[in-house]
Amino acid sequence: MKKRPLLMIPGPIEFDPEVLHACGAPTVSHVSAEFIDTFGRCLERMRTVWGAPNGQPILLAGSGTLAMDTAGANLIEPGDRALVLSTGVFGDRYADLLSRYGAQVMVVGAPLGETIDFSEVDTVLKNGCFKLMTATHVDTSTGVRIDAERFGELARAHGVLSILDGVCSVAGEPIRQDAWGIDVVLTASQKAIGVPPGLALLVVSEAALAAFESRQSATTNYYADWGQWIPIMHAYEERRPSYFGTPAVNLVAALDVGLEQILTEGLRQREDRHRRIGSACRAALTALGLEVVPTSEDHAANTLSAPRCPPGIRCANLLTAVREAGVTFAGGLHPEIRTSSFRIGHMGSVRETDVLTAVAALETGLLACKAPVQPGVGVAAAQRVLTAGS
Ligand code: PMP
Repeated sequence: MKKRPLLMIPGPIEFDPEVLHACGAPTVSHVSAEFIDTFGRCLERMRTVWGAPNGQPILLAGSGTLAMDTAGANLIEPGDRALVLSTGVFGDRYADLLSRYGAQVMVVGAPLGETIDFSEVDTVLKNGCFKLMTATHVDTSTGVRIDAERFGELARAHGVLSILDGVCSVAGEPIRQDAWGIDVVLTASQKAIGVPPGLALLVVSEAALAAFESRQSATTNYYADWGQWIPIMHAYEERRPSYFGTPAVNLVAALDVGLEQILTEGLRQREDRHRRIGSACRAALTALGLEVVPTSEDHAANTLSAPRCPPGIRCANLLTAVREAGVTFAGGLHPEIRTSSFRIGHMGSVRETDVLTAVAALETGLLACKAPVQPGVGVAAAQRVLTAGS
């Protein structure tokens, strides 16, 4: 019998065997022609996945927080005003991060489960003199997705630099960085990109690079300094050896395979698959009588679901019972719902049968916890969504 549970958390996810195979191949020199070519190709492929033919891709060893950090460190100087749109824990993290670099930060938040009200943002931008604005495309603590196109449009209309935290969205939810006018879109490898944890990935616009180049003071973060890394990225794309810090050689080889898989599937098809699977998961939860944290289907993310635990059931007990049924979910993260909600990740290489398995394990767990559910109701609801139109 298989012992390994199916990993359905919002990152790290289940990785495709070909990606893992590439990761486990013998390590090559980071200045070999073979590796330089792999790295260069990753940068080129990032532009396509991000929809940013004119952007500068940056690929660093580190997690998503480093991707956030490098954008903040290079675009903020002490005293700059920054507007943070927060729909959960990761928006709040960006506010904290930017203030460490001396930014005067203002936060526009949303009640738990709600999305950003862009008319409020428009008013705030009219009245303030902001250099930069950030938003979290999908906040993994709430499962709320914001309208990233509107975010880019407003930033452009007000002449403000924009940073989109796409850690839980890039390669899962639609993103068209150049068309939507977003200056930095950042992510990490372990989510919808589908590569083990350890890579920070971002694409930077010409306007953001110009803002970086016109800084009055040097970037105070040594490792994350674009002045160090951008020449390295240029060298890789020109297939020249270079060095600042040792790249995560094996992870970059895995990324090359992961990005190729994304492009082979096709971005539109991949987005549709995430949309179908996300809707199926939410339909199953509703059929089982579980509420989700996002207050509307219109702003519920398709990369994860954030259900609330049914009344009278301890979330920790439910997650243990689900794990015994063969599937791992994540606990709550947002402080207001940490012990009363949980999270189901469904992104990257996730298949329709994975979501059906996850829902079946959830039903088994609910029954083990004596919840009054009808077995099979969730699976049937998910299946109806998955088979609609086929
Ligand atoms: N932003 C979002 C939206 C995230 O989901 C996460 C990770 N869950 C991060 C930032 C931070 O990424 P990491 O854990 O890789 O540092």
